[in-house]
Amino acid sequence: MAIWNLGSINADMVYALPHLPTPGETLAALDLQQFLGGKGANMSVAAARAGSHVCHIGAVGPDGKWAVDRLMEYGVDTRYIDQIDTPTGHAIIAVDRQGENQIILFPGANRELTNDQLGLAVSQAGSGDILVLQNETNMQGEAAKMGRELGLRVCYAAAPFDAEAVQAVLPFLDLLFLNEVEAQQLEHATGKPATELGVSDVIITLGAKGARHFSMGTGEILDIPALPVTAVDTTGAGDTFTGYVLSGLDRGLPMPQAMMLATRAAALMVTRPGTADVIPDLKETQDAQF
Ligand code: ATP
Repeated sequence: MAIWNLGSINADMVYALPHLPTPGETLAALDLQQFLGGKGANMSVAAARAGSHVCHIGAVGPDGKWAVDRLMEYGVDTRYIDQIDTPTGHAIIAVDRQGENQIILFPGANRELTNDQLGLAVSQAGSGDILVLQNETNMQGEAAKMGRELGLRVCYAAAPFDAEAVQAVLPFLDLLFLNEVEAQQLEHATGKPATELGVSDVIITLGAKGARHFSMGTGEILDIPALPVTAVDTTGAGDTFTGYVLSGLDRGLPMPQAMMLATRAAALMVTRPGTADVIPDLKETQDAQF
């Protein structure tokens, strides 16, 4: 079995600044660090580190070879990542001495995927494979429809929230991931709670409160509390959680076990500064003491 992830790949450029720039100000940074990021890349790394075969479908620019190499190092199958002329997606993240930040996001190559590229990749998937989507690329609606037609299990994290993108994929979804804010935004956009939109499995993550799974088939609600850790950086916790749940399901675990493993991985993740580069592997996740 495999996980097919139509997902973003970003360079996160983190500039340390004495203060956040005011309009018109020129400011010298104190430090620059570059990390692999993007919701798609984070999820691919998480699912691969959790032990699944993950095929990432995406695009980078001429400046993105390092990101593809990094994904490969983390065990992601990168054969379906195209290199195109548009620059690689990136986030310019300014952080001041208090840890407050300002972010400029340039989607770049992430929004230049083509129907041909998508079709070529998804046609290699086997029935029962997982297809996962988020909102940092284009082509989500087309991918979801294609996935459903091919008998894939279509999963979607509605982040960053975009009402139009959600409505385009909703009819084709098997599993929907939302955080608390996105669940409210979706209810506002559709006029119905996320659990009443016809998707068979819905998971709402609740930060330090844990996560809740709703099964449409059985009507059951399952609460998995978060683990008690001292959070230093919650960036990427949601993506790690999603990647681990998908990997658990891909490897045949029932939902409660998949979510418990994901909860352990996400708890470890919030104790570490950084994103894709610090996502724990399966052994660390299983061995961790909380
Ligand atoms: P992000 O956008 O920051 O990646 P998110 O908003 O998508 O995250 P959250 O609901 O914040 O997702 O977190 C996902 C999961 O991570 C939670 O369900 C929980 O298991 C774990 N988690 C998040 N914050 C904490 C915390 N402070 N302590 C322990 N676990 C946490």
